Amino acid sequence: MINIAYPVIGKRERQLINEVLDSGMLASGKYVERFERSFAEYSGAKFGIATANGTTSLHAALLMCGVKPGDKVVTTPFSFIATANSILFCGAKPVFADIDPLTYNINPAELEKILKKEKNVKAVLIVHLYGLMCDMAAILKLRKKYNFKIIEDACQAHGAEFKGKKSGSLGDAAAFSFYATKNMMTGEGGITLTNDSKMDAYARQLINHGREGHSTHTVLGYNYRLTNIAAAIGIAQLEQLEDWTKKRISNAQKYNKAFEGLDFIKTPAVPKNHRHVFHQYTLRVKDSEREKFIKYLRDNGVGCGIYYDTAMYRQPLYKKLGYKAGLCPEAEKAAKEVVSIPVHPSLSKSDTDKVIKIIANYK
Ligand SMILES: *Cc1c(COP(=O)(O)O)cnc(C)c1O
Repeated sequence: MINIAYPVIGKRERQLINEVLDSGMLASGKYVERFERSFAEYSGAKFGIATANGTTSLHAALLMCGVKPGDKVVTTPFSFIATANSILFCGAKPVFADIDPLTYNINPAELEKILKKEKNVKAVLIVHLYGLMCDMAAILKLRKKYNFKIIEDACQAHGAEFKGKKSGSLGDAAAFSFYATKNMMTGEGGITLTNDSKMDAYARQLINHGREGHSTHTVLGYNYRLTNIAAAIGIAQLEQLEDWTKKRISNAQKYNKAFEGLDFIKTPAVPKNHRHVFHQYTLRVKDSEREKFIKYLRDNGVGCGIYYDTAMYRQPLYKKLGYKAGLCPEAEKAAKEVVSIPVHPSLSKSDTDKVIKIIANYK
């Protein structure tokens, strides 16, 4: 079976983990600080605050932006559940704006409709889905007009670019995940980025029980810290991220070319000015065809995944909160039609050749 994801753990990871073990400092410490600096620098942001996972980095990012109980936060319905849940953690209300069916990201025109209608929208939580950044020009323009905070959920977009600017550098705060299947990983892990020194200081309190100085606790905080062991893996992974990303992009280009003439699938769009880092390579097939297509792929040894089979507000938890079917038709349609196939950097040439051959022979 060619797996949909395959975390790489090499010599360098082992070497740095051993350094941490030998140091005896397994919790917070200088590996965490080094990782924070190097990931922030790589992403073009001033400050990085490492966290236990992507979900906690999202929660911290929203709190840093001042999201409070009763506030409204606009987001996409087509993402991992952690995106919307992090809004609920703050006691705020998620308001869903439909996606652009070509990019799967929040549609700026739909976002503006909501901004016109809704009062006190505190923040917009955008998601750079599958490794493609949102239309940042349009979203930054809307921020000027309507005045809200932008939080980037960049959990799938390490190293992605819009007009040469990396994900995590353009909003007020950003959240990344280093879960085992992401473009780079630390097992579990995350980081919040910001360019604002006050937000950086507040975030450091939020992830460490509100601590200020040595033993004074001035705000309500949490234990959202990353460990030195995880950071050691992260340092090693970050050194390899660019090579891996190039491999993902070249695998995607090979697929695009091979699938050009196939009328039963649609390949992913890469709008101009974007560097898509292909966390997922996502095809679109007809709703009526998807189950059969997936079974065919799996029967022939090609792993695949559906991200995501439900618009988030159609989950039982959100139904109970009163969200109704039909709210975001494009997201609901995409949820029935997407299929992601392996694009990760550990694929060999014979793996990608096989994926292409199997798909070309469908039917
Ligand atoms: C992975 C992911 C998260 C959550 O990250 P964890 O590290 O699993 O908590 C949030 N949003 C998106 C879009 C993700 O892909």
